[in-house]
Amino acid sequence: MNEHRGIGLTSERTRIRLVKQLKEMGVINLDVLDAIQTTPRHLFVDEGLASRAYENTALPIGHGQTISQPYIVAKMTELLLGGPLDKVLEIGAGCGYQSVILARFAKQVYSVERISPLAIKLRERIQQLRYRNILVKYGDGMQGWPENGPFDAILAAAAPESVPPKLLEQLKIGGRLVIPVGGDGHQDLLLITREDEDNYSEKKLDAVSFVPMKSGMN
Ligand code: SAH
Repeated sequence: MNEHRGIGLTSERTRIRLVKQLKEMGVINLDVLDAIQTTPRHLFVDEGLASRAYENTALPIGHGQTISQPYIVAKMTELLLGGPLDKVLEIGAGCGYQSVILARFAKQVYSVERISPLAIKLRERIQQLRYRNILVKYGDGMQGWPENGPFDAILAAAAPESVPPKLLEQLKIGGRLVIPVGGDGHQDLLLITREDEDNYSEKKLDAVSFVPMKSGMN
């Protein structure tokens, strides 16, 4: 029992330290910082990695994929705030950490994952943790999720070589898309806003490093 309590204490301390680091790195939204502090990231990685869950680093989740670095999750979430968030689409659900952070701010999160075992595990995890506003689809996120669009916001956690047109189409007017784009060695994080029916504005943010967005299913 003591051992169990010990883990709890460590994880509270390490969560506070993580949030402090994110503040120093420029995350300012208090609700986002609170979401990071209160979301049990250790439940989204294998038990063997749980002790490292509150480090500001990406960690392996199997199938050659990773759980994103908390800083990038916080930053991307922050970029989507400001307008209505009734429907949010996430491409590249992986273990679901970003999905549950989004679920704190969105009425409904729609999350697509192209690796079947990850999608299955994620559905189980969401049920166990009792999140009621996340739907997971096993499919190719390059296609978006047209049946449920258009979306107030779209977040991609994998990097295509260029912005998939289907994602642009499925944005509401005024909606925002945050997406890493690039290939071999260099990716930029883009914030794209749909200004009207035909026009989009694009802002280039940090250089980032995501797993590639692959087409098709696995
Ligand atoms: N959102 C996760 C990050 C997962 S890593 C987190 O919170 O940490 C990125 C994920 O994108 C991987 O699971 C990968 O399988 C998935 N992916 C890559 N290309 C995809 C595509 N075309 N459609 C859906 N998912 C994709």
